[in-house]
Amino acid sequence: MAFSERITRLKSSLIREILAAAQRPEVMSFAGGLPAEAMLPTVDWAELPASMGQYGMSEGEPALRELIAAQARALGVPCEASQVLIVSGSQQTLDLASKLFIDSGTEVLVEAPTYLAALQSFQLFGAECLAVPQQADGPDLAALRATLEQHEPAFAYLIPTFQNPSAVRYSEAKRDAVAALLDEFGVTLLEDEPYRELVFDQGSAKPIVSRLKRASWIYTGTVSKTLLPGLRVGYLIASPDLFPYLLRLKQSADLHTNRIGQWQALQWLGSDRYQEHLGELRDFYRIRRDAMQDSLEEHFGDLATWELPQGGLFFWLTLRQPLDTRTLLKQALAEDVVFMPGEPFFVDPEANPGYLRLNFSHVSAERMSEGLRRLAQVIRDASAS
Ligand code: PMP
Repeated sequence: MAFSERITRLKSSLIREILAAAQRPEVMSFAGGLPAEAMLPTVDWAELPASMGQYGMSEGEPALRELIAAQARALGVPCEASQVLIVSGSQQTLDLASKLFIDSGTEVLVEAPTYLAALQSFQLFGAECLAVPQQADGPDLAALRATLEQHEPAFAYLIPTFQNPSAVRYSEAKRDAVAALLDEFGVTLLEDEPYRELVFDQGSAKPIVSRLKRASWIYTGTVSKTLLPGLRVGYLIASPDLFPYLLRLKQSADLHTNRIGQWQALQWLGSDRYQEHLGELRDFYRIRRDAMQDSLEEHFGDLATWELPQGGLFFWLTLRQPLDTRTLLKQALAEDVVFMPGEPFFVDPEANPGYLRLNFSHVSAERMSEGLRRLAQVIRDASAS
């Protein structure tokens, strides 16, 4: 069979297979980035206009684009509705950006660690990903400068607010410094912010794209983490030099994002109920985050180190004794516990053993405590052998 060259770069994922096998109800899952079922808002389909069943515009529903542009301007992002493209989840932004920029061998700058499905998308198109180490307050600036001096990445992919997987939020100073470096070297920024609104403290630093003076940019967000991931509605906002290309790519990918989902997203985002819903969501997830912190302190104090996440959906653990966490996952599954191994979040997985990503939004507090007790035991047994 004559397949494309790129398909050989798409490796089947052992972890995906293990996690797919872990759908049994007794399995305690800290693996996905799923919202809690109880917090999925109810939707009212009765009012859906019949016209939403018709073909729509590739750009997206005009009212939704207006609303997203207004929200972005409130964050300091200089944009008009004409720069907003509604996409089928922010995952589609990663696909469209990959198609726009990446040929075989194109360099792309990423954080280490970074979102694994972004790595997969970039690598599918043949990218050489350049990893810049992440610190507690954002990327290592000396490493970032050195990478920009030695390479010519087509773009930098950054997740500055409650990063997946590390939960890091860049400081104000690092946001400014990163923007200045990208301007200096003329490197396009792809800024991915699905977790901005899932914040547990008062901190909210403006996006990096709002600090750029010269570099081109794409800013992407989604309703997946605050409303319903099943709607598959996200958006990108692009600097005017990039927008027409992204629009054409969107047209050729799927004509437009499903209008029924867009309509539903608009009902929520445009209503007074939305702020109330966000407040409830933050309270609910803060309680789960605190429950996980308590259980981790009880069971993991001697096994790992971590920072308390101030938002997002994940704890990122560094094992005191580095182990291959993919092997640990198999051992944990035998105890009916699953988590996300750290290796796939790195450009070089083999060089980065000993990290675990734990989701705190999906499992109830009682099951969380039992699940983490079992996971700690699995790690203790593996460390001893
Ligand atoms: N980017 C990041 C960093 C994510 O964590 C996710 C979801 N896990 C996505 C993009 C994709 O989100 P969606 O396609 O559901 O909008």
